[in-house]
Amino acid sequence: MSIGSNSQRLAVVPDAEECNVQQPLAASLTAEPVVCSYCFGSGMEVVLGKGARRCRCRSLDLQTRLLEAARIPRRYSECSLSNYQPAKDNGSQLRAFNYAYRLVCDYPGNDRGLLFMGSMGVGKTHLSVAIMRGLIEKKSVSCLFYEFGSLLKEIQNSYNPVSQTSELKVLAPIFEVDVLVLDELGASKPTEWVRDTMMQIIGTRYNEKRRTIFTTNYLDDRRCPNDETLEDRIGGRLRSRLYEMCRTVLIEGEDWRRRFDTEIL
Ligand code: ADP
Repeated sequence: MSIGSNSQRLAVVPDAEECNVQQPLAASLTAEPVVCSYCFGSGMEVVLGKGARRCRCRSLDLQTRLLEAARIPRRYSECSLSNYQPAKDNGSQLRAFNYAYRLVCDYPGNDRGLLFMGSMGVGKTHLSVAIMRGLIEKKSVSCLFYEFGSLLKEIQNSYNPVSQTSELKVLAPIFEVDVLVLDELGASKPTEWVRDTMMQIIGTRYNEKRRTIFTTNYLDDRRCPNDETLEDRIGGRLRSRLYEMCRTVLIEGEDWRRRFDTEIL
């Protein structure tokens, strides 16, 4: 593809792989509007000897908007693949990291998501957010984070008893976003309404082959006779669907949060 007259033809080259975030960010913090020094406001930058491409300032704008729209909780705002540290001699954490890394690299190659399963504080949410960040920064993919319980509450609050439907404004992004992270699957009391709603969300994404990443504290097998399994919490139909939609990734280890409790009195 090329633009311009025949005498001044410019080839269109791929977007910048590495964005120099310093320049436009610094510019946005100053009171005076500063014109981008790469494209001078045109949105296209010239690559010497090659042609023109969408300017890095526009890619950065898009990524900033995608990150803001992703609803990543503040506590996890710094989580990335580069600051996830698999514990020493912990094969499950290294394997989990590798699956997360591959998902970002291969996207959109394979439509299977991930189901991170394991006890509290082993890094399931960290890795899920890291995937979102990687996809937004490297591939400008739209992503959305929801803690499952809050999502169910939002859907409940938007329910209209007259039309007997929930507002599409809550549900549409859940159905349509490219990559959805649903944190804490199974944590809500499994009433019939909760199961039906989970089935509707997961079933719609399954039918549309959209990528979903789940985290859950419930396992597939009981470690003690009184333990509840993921299937006990979400039902057999949904668990079965998840086998096909996602690779199950078991993460084991200590609760990372315990490290914060090392204050010497
Ligand atoms: P989970 O979702 O499994 O309950 P989180 O992902 O919420 O655990 O992790 C709890 C806290 O510990 C978060 O602040 C997270 O960033 C941090 N954390 C957990 N595992 C790791 C790890 N392997 N490397 C770096 N930080 C970690």
